[in-house]
Order: sequence, then structure tokens, then C-alpha cells
Amino acid sequence: MAQLELRQVRKSFQTLEVIHGIDLTVEDGSFTVFVGPSGCGKSTLLRMISGLEETSGGEIWLDGVRCDHLLPSARGMAMVFQSYALYPHMSVEENLRFGLENQKLPKPEIATRVDKAAEILQIKHLLKRRPNQLSGGQSQRVAIGRAIVKEPKVFLFDEPLSNLDAELRVKMRSEISALHHRLGTTMIYVTHDQVEAMTMADRIVVLREGVIEQAGAPIELYARPRNQFVAGFLGAPQ
Ligand code: ADP
Ligand code: MG
Repeated sequence: MAQLELRQVRKSFQTLEVIHGIDLTVEDGSFTVFVGPSGCGKSTLLRMISGLEETSGGEIWLDGVRCDHLLPSARGMAMVFQSYALYPHMSVEENLRFGLENQKLPKPEIATRVDKAAEILQIKHLLKRRPNQLSGGQSQRVAIGRAIVKEPKVFLFDEPLSNLDAELRVKMRSEISALHHRLGTTMIYVTHDQVEAMTMADRIVVLREGVIEQAGAPIELYARPRNQFVAGFLGAPQ
């Protein structure tokens, strides 16, 4: 059984349909990348999976439970945004603790999780700082830390590295891949960057105007693109 399953998922804004009935399975523990040009519906799809956006039709299943009507907090997922979305008036440590205090977790459990996440991301020395005292790379580490402490079943990343310079992007790419190897948790990663998709993914889902053009392993899409769009987009020979 796939861990996450989308069945005919649709989304309309007013009268305009932007996601046109997507069927997709995401295997437990995989690193799946949604890639496609700006405006093709990557963020909308991710937001529907996380529950930040309602679906207009179809079903989303997680671990055999239908979850498209559940609140975001009940889905066991954690999202990391391009904009970091840290609370500016809180220290790094408070940012990491915040979601857990809301969940009413016991204090020692919170402390353990924060400590572990800070160690994994090497941000222990930053715990007392405010977000405005962090670099872009440090901010994104804290944003990822805030997802890790939730111990989610699925991590959802929406173009998390787009605000970083090229050098840091390459470094953070391998850090996120290493994090995936370490935790073994399912990750869905959205990007418009073909190189990011090819280097990070176990499985790539190529989107275009609200439909899936092709899904498969990077090498499969590169060697056997189904059409000109996939070939052109992933830079494969045509
Ligand atoms: P991507 O993340 O791939 O760049 P989005 O998911 O943000 O694409 O957008 C997909 C389409 O849905 C675009 O045409 C966008 O204009 C439209 N869209 C996204 N959010 C809204 C919204 N809140 N209201 C109206 N249209 C939206
Ligand atoms: Mg987007």
C-alpha cells in the first residue's frame, strides 16, 4: 500500500479549474519531487495535501485513512516554506517549541525533540537568537527544524531554497537529502529547478497546467521522456 494516495484531486479558484483530477501514489519513505514551470499548480497541490487549501474534488488518503477533510494539524504532516515563516518576535528555541506547546506535549518530550532537531541541523548555537539575527541559510535550517520537531509522517517542502544564493542552495540540497537518509521519512519536495529535481528525487512528478505529464525515477524520465515537454523540461536529449 502506498503511504499517500491522491485520487482524482481537483482544485478550482472561483470558476477556474487549476488542478484537473490528479491521481498519484507516494511510497512510504520516498523522496518525491514535484517539478514544473511557474503557475502549473505545484504549490496548490502541496497545500491541498497539507490541508492549507481545500480540495474541490477527489480524495486524499494517508496510511489508509482518508484525510482530505481533516484539519492540517490532524494529518501528521509538516510543511517548510520558501519564506521560512518564522515568528519574528520569538527566539529560535521558542520557534521550535511553539507548535509542540500547542499540542500539549510534556515539557521533557519537547526539550528532547528541540535538542535533537538542533543537533541534526547544527543550530544549537543559534537557539537564543531572533529570526532577524539569522542568515538565509540559518533561517531555513530553523524552518526545517520546526518541521522535524513535529515528527511528521510526511515532510512537505515548497521551494525551500529559492531565496538562497546558488552556492548555499547546493549545500542545503545535500543537507536535505542527508536528512531524508537519516530520518527515512517520506518527503515531498516542490521545485521549478530541474537540477534540484534530478539530483534529489527518488521519483519525479512532472506537472504542467494542473495535470501530471509523467512520473517516474529521474533516470527513467531522462532516458524515456513521454513527450517533448518532459524531455525539454528535464533537459534530456530529444
Ligand atoms: P506553482 O506553485 O506551480 O507556481 P500555484 O499552485 O501557485 O503554481 O498556482 C497554480 C494556478 O492557480 C496559477 O494559475 C495561479 O494563478 C492559480 N492560483 C493559485 N492560488 C490562487 C488563489 N488563491 N486564487 C486564485 N488563483 C490562484
Ligand atoms: Mg509555488
